[in-house]
Amino acid sequence: MQHEPPRPLLELAGIAVGYRRMQVLWGVDLVVNEHESVVLLGANGSGKTTLLKAVMNLVEVFAGRIRFATEDITRLRIDQRVRRGIVFMSETSGFPGLTIEENLLIGAQFLAGQRARRRIDELYAAFPVLAERRRAAAGSLSGGQRKMLGIAKALIGNPRLLIMDEPSAGLSPLYVKEVISVLSRFRAEDLALLIAEQNAKFLVLADRVYTLDNGRIGFSGTVAAMQENDALRRAYFGLQ
Ligand code: ATP
Repeated sequence: MQHEPPRPLLELAGIAVGYRRMQVLWGVDLVVNEHESVVLLGANGSGKTTLLKAVMNLVEVFAGRIRFATEDITRLRIDQRVRRGIVFMSETSGFPGLTIEENLLIGAQFLAGQRARRRIDELYAAFPVLAERRRAAAGSLSGGQRKMLGIAKALIGNPRLLIMDEPSAGLSPLYVKEVISVLSRFRAEDLALLIAEQNAKFLVLADRVYTLDNGRIGFSGTVAAMQENDALRRAYFGLQ
């Protein structure tokens, strides 16, 4: 069978980013191909969150270019990026006083009536835990369930790229497995993923990995190639 060459979806080229005069990222090149999932690994403070924010235009990009589906989006506002199919899943998604159903309806408000209902039902099928508790207040959910709600909300508009900042934070191993299985299912459809993590839990999902070291890309390659590198293996897998 002939494989088509990968088509870049998100491309960062020579990105320099910072807060006022403090530069945090230095000449970062990173690509997420269509349907690909890329995990960005790095220690605390290495600049992972800053990189993800740069993709959404939540921080000032001093230099470099950002392209999405071949279009230069470096100067686009956040809402214009969202409309093109990039979503950023934040930690605090969900209004605690509203039910799961109401939260999903708010997320789906830009879809026409019938489509909103259909999409929410599709999401209930993918997230049975949300379907069971659809009338429960989001504030009554466990940390893992809230994460599921956050992912479901992020996926309502059928994004092409889902960006997640440390999805494993605060999750029990059981929920980590569940989040991974849900994401794998959507990946099989049309979704690409860019996930920042401090540990190796999400590497089972990764087609490729980048490591960020004090604001610079260190390694980039497959998980298998990463495991062959002694220093990286020790740093991220805790193995000797
Ligand atoms: P963590 O895993 O702790 O979130 P990270 O790899 O995501 O770390 P960033 O949050 O991107 O790293 O932070 C990178 C650097 O930028 C750190 O030195 C941090 O102190 C600094 N920084 C982050 N946000 C701001 C801000 N709003 N203003 C000024 N400096 C910031």
